[in-house]
Amino acid sequence: MRIARFSARGQTGYGVIRNDVIHSLGSDPFSGWETGTELKFDGRTYPLSETRLLAPCLPSKLVCLGLNYRPHAREFDQAPPSSPLIFLKPSTAVIGPESPIILPHNWKRVDYEGELGIVIGKTARHVTEEKAREYILGCTCTNDVTERQIQKEDGQWTRAKGFDTFAPIGPWIETEVEPDDLVLETYLNGELRQSARTSELVFGISSLISFISGIMTLLPGDIIATGTPAGIAPMRPGDTVEVKIEGIGSLRNPVKGPV
Ligand code: MG
Repeated sequence: MRIARFSARGQTGYGVIRNDVIHSLGSDPFSGWETGTELKFDGRTYPLSETRLLAPCLPSKLVCLGLNYRPHAREFDQAPPSSPLIFLKPSTAVIGPESPIILPHNWKRVDYEGELGIVIGKTARHVTEEKAREYILGCTCTNDVTERQIQKEDGQWTRAKGFDTFAPIGPWIETEVEPDDLVLETYLNGELRQSARTSELVFGISSLISFISGIMTLLPGDIIATGTPAGIAPMRPGDTVEVKIEGIGSLRNPVKGPV
């Protein structure tokens, strides 16, 4: 099932996409999912072509992984960390498909980082690895956009990765895909730049949910961005970046200069 957020004819809401039609939901998909009740539709439908897809959920936070693919760690001349290296991106950085990534004033080098995003479905605190799957609503594509020069200067990553528009997510939440061995690709202006399988993650998805939920409570709609593979490179105004994940879909965003 593909769960999306959308706007159409002045309405904004959640819906399920079937055969290029959005079937509008009466509420967000999380409240019912937490208690195991069926999704409720409100009877309204919209052709996909007449809607605009928004970020598929409104995370309270994105918990992101650093250096979680060995070849990417090598790009930075680093060994993968011995325990998951996590950082946060603010909710205000989130944008949806086709929305522009806006470069900050005085930008030097802003990179894409294509990543698999895990969407948390219900409140998760001290979850064991064995139970971790029960907390996943589905998967989406994410782009952990990063100002590489600032990342180097600061040492810690909040500023470099926290600018508005630096967290594209979407195009929807796919609830039926197994996330452990999917092809992840990033294209810049249609050219393949990153290609890996999620089976190459240093720390896998269940262990990440367990690890992170032992530190901070994960709320419905929160996203774990599982880390980027090798092949990072800068973007420039006028570029288009696309993160494509097997069984999920394709998240595309144009890049614009400072405003
Ligand atoms: Mg990243």
